[in-house]
Amino acid sequence: MDRNIFDADHHAFRDMVSIFIEREVTPHHDQWEADGQVSREVWLAAGKSGLLGTDVPEEYGGGGVDDFRYNAIITEELAKAGASGIGFPLQNDVVAPYLLRLASDEQKQRWLPGFCSGEIITALAMTEPGTGSDLQGIQTTGKPDGDGGFILNGAKTFITNGILADLVIVVAKTDSEAGSKGFSLLVVERGMLGFERGRRLAKVGMKAQDTAELSFTDVRVPAENVLGKLGQGFVYLMQNLAQERLSIAVGSTAGIERALAVTAAYTKDRHAFGRPISAFQNTRFELAEIATEAQVARVFTDRCLGEHVAGRLSITDAAMAKWWTSDLLKKVVDRCVQLHGGYGYMLEYPIAKAFIDSRVQSIYGGTNEIMKEIIGRSLFS
Ligand SMILES: Cc1cc2nc3c(=O)[nH]c(=O)nc-3n(C[C@H](O)[C@H](O)[C@H](O)COP(=O)(O)OP(=O)(O)OC[C@H]3O[C@@H](n4cnc5c(N)ncnc54)[C@H](O)[C@@H]3O)c2cc1C
Repeated sequence: MDRNIFDADHHAFRDMVSIFIEREVTPHHDQWEADGQVSREVWLAAGKSGLLGTDVPEEYGGGGVDDFRYNAIITEELAKAGASGIGFPLQNDVVAPYLLRLASDEQKQRWLPGFCSGEIITALAMTEPGTGSDLQGIQTTGKPDGDGGFILNGAKTFITNGILADLVIVVAKTDSEAGSKGFSLLVVERGMLGFERGRRLAKVGMKAQDTAELSFTDVRVPAENVLGKLGQGFVYLMQNLAQERLSIAVGSTAGIERALAVTAAYTKDRHAFGRPISAFQNTRFELAEIATEAQVARVFTDRCLGEHVAGRLSITDAAMAKWWTSDLLKKVVDRCVQLHGGYGYMLEYPIAKAFIDSRVQSIYGGTNEIMKEIIGRSLFS
């Protein structure tokens, strides 16, 4: 089935992104995997090519087009290339909405030009060593400094772009008496006294993506670095998590299509018992099932994309898209590894990397169990 949610401008943008990845990402990805992080140069190159902040107004150096399909194209092309180390989706899909919706004019002028040029790499720090799913358990505190700012203390973990980040949106408890209304978003910048990076975490997959621990010891966050209204942190998280989850669904769906494509190609070339593996009925049935599931995932994800662009994507639908496509990706990749035989276990084969890279999709962005909680609640509320 043809996809019907893109127009000629989107197709042209996709071609540009694909060429960018071929030239600026793919040749370096193995090195980045060895380094445990990507280079700053690729961020600057992405900024020059207009891959960062497509929806940021032009006056701040962005693309000026408020259309999530452009974000989705970047995520899809990265997934198609197996470029799991690049944190552009975190910057574009996860952090951008916070800055665009909540930052004051002064903050936008300070941060958005660098955000779009790739000079300011960003991160969002919610998760802590003691709490992930249960965000109300966050222990990081911001105590008023008497000047409108806060003294920040605490630790975060599993933070994407953590080592490279120049700007981190930190979720902190600024009023310990106010329950869920006691959380605020404080922006910590590189170089602030007391802001330290811990370990770059050694992960099962996504080896080139930097994922780190961050710590804050008496970090003075001035009033001009408070993002949005005090006490609204949780509301902001809830408003923005749907887009993050859609982004994961977009990446997962593209990952499913890629697994199918590389496996179909492999089974045509690989021979056993005097014929290609693809000639065995089992192979054809496996791939037929995967192709069908890929198509179902594609239709649902595109529909969610369309709903999101129209401003109608519900939190429940985003949760459905996230859990279902990420679960499917893991199942599909596992079957595709099997069809590769021993080579499917060798990291020089794309399907083996897909196997380790895909595992996390059902964990981050809210675990799939939490997605089912959200969907379940909507059925009985
Ligand atoms: C590679 C990677 C990158 C990440 N990037 C970021 C980032 O940039 N910023 C950030 O803030 N976080 C990030 N995270 C953290 C991620 O969002 C959390 O790991 C995730 O939300 C789960 O939290 P947890 O690890 O504390 O697991 P836990 O909350 O301890 O969950 C453990 C298990 O219990 C289950 N569980 C928990 N509560 C319930 C419930 N109510 N009902 C049923 N089951 C439940 C979970 O589903 C899971 O299976 C990242 C994680 C990884 C691995």
